[in-house]
Amino acid sequence: MRKIIIAFGPPGIGKGTVGSALSKEMKLPLISVGDLLRDAVKNQSGIGKKAENYMKKGELVPDSLVFELLNERISQKDASAGFILDGFPRNQQQVIMLEKVFIDGDICFAMNLEGSDKVIIERLSNRRICEKCGAIYHLVNIPPEKEGICDKCGGKLIQRVDDSPQIIAKRLDVFKNDTKPILDFYKKKGWLYSIFAEDKLSETLKLIHKVIH
Ligand code: ADP
Ligand code: ZN
Repeated sequence: MRKIIIAFGPPGIGKGTVGSALSKEMKLPLISVGDLLRDAVKNQSGIGKKAENYMKKGELVPDSLVFELLNERISQKDASAGFILDGFPRNQQQVIMLEKVFIDGDICFAMNLEGSDKVIIERLSNRRICEKCGAIYHLVNIPPEKEGICDKCGGKLIQRVDDSPQIIAKRLDVFKNDTKPILDFYKKKGWLYSIFAEDKLSETLKLIHKVIH
C-alpha cells in the first residue's frame, strides 16, 4: 500500500517548500518534476538538452520526456511506500499517464495550494534556490543565515532563470489554461483538498494536517 500525495497550485505558491516539510514528517520522498528536469539540464542528458528551451520560456516540456524521468524516479526503492509529487500532472495527458502509475491499494490525496497572483509574484521574485542541493529560500520569509549561501550545504544561492517577470506571467498562464482544468478530475474522485497557502508555512501545514494524514 503506497501513500501518494499530489501537490497542485500555481508556480511560487509553495509546493516545493510545503512538499519538503511533509516529506520529512511523513518519511516519504518528495519528487519534484521541476528539480528532476533542472538536474537533467545541468547534466546535459538527452532529456535535459531537449527540455532546456521549453523551461527557459516557461512552457511545458513535452509529456513523454517528463513522464520518462518521473517513471524512472518512482520505480526507485525509496518510493515503494509512496511519495509526494510536486509538478505532475500539469495537463490532461499527464493525468492519463499518472492513472497508469496507480496500483490497487494506493491511497491518494491531492492538495490544491491556493493564493492570489499578488502573493505568487512577490514570492517568486524573492525566491532563491541553492545551485547545489535545490533548497528553497525567500529573501524575507526564509532568509539563509549567511547571505547568498545555502544553510544546508554551503552551495551558492541563485535566482532561477525562469523567475523573471515575463516568464512568471507565462507560467501563470500555463497554470490557468492547462493545469487548473484538471483539478476537476481529482475533485470528482474525492481526493482534492483546497488549502489556503498565503500565510506562513506553519499555518499552511496546520491546514494540511487537518485533512491529510
Ligand atoms: P513552477 O511550478 O514554479 O513553475 P517547477 O520547478 O515545478 O516550477 O517547473 C519549472 C519548469 O519545468 C516548468 O515551467 C516547465 O517548463 C517544466 N515542468 C515542470 N513540471 C512539468 C510537467 N509536469 N510537464 C511539463 N513540464 C514541466
Ligand atoms: Zn544547498
